Amino acid sequence: MDCENTRNTYQRKVVLEELKKTTAHPTADELYEAVRKRLPNISLGTVYRNLEILSACGQALKLDLGEGKKRFDATTKPHYHLRCIKCGKVIDVPYVPLDKEIENHVKGMGNFKITSVQVHFEGICEECLKKK
Ligand code: ZN
Ligand code: MN
Repeated sequence: MDCENTRNTYQRKVVLEELKKTTAHPTADELYEAVRKRLPNISLGTVYRNLEILSACGQALKLDLGEGKKRFDATTKPHYHLRCIKCGKVIDVPYVPLDKEIENHVKGMGNFKITSVQVHFEGICEECLKKK
């Protein structure tokens, strides 16, 4: 994909700005609700397409946390996720070099160069643990 010469750059700029305002890892549908407040005529398909371009061009992450829907994240530097199985909240975890550890771990089986990593853990968040 040509990341410099794609059309509708203003719409994409707004989509990225709205994605950067949240740490909630929204779906395209959720982000569409926020973008529509600024661009009332934009379609869900356009938001979706721009999110695909942003993730293909390294300006956003597309996350599949096994929920049957894609989420998007403006934090592109390596980090991990915790997903609460009760309330669905997704929490960022700072990067620790698990990929390097795994790479060293599999050295005995042959060589494998890890080029990207997405790790998420499932569990129950602090608020949900308090509720009984
Ligand atoms: Zn929770
Ligand atoms: Mn994240």
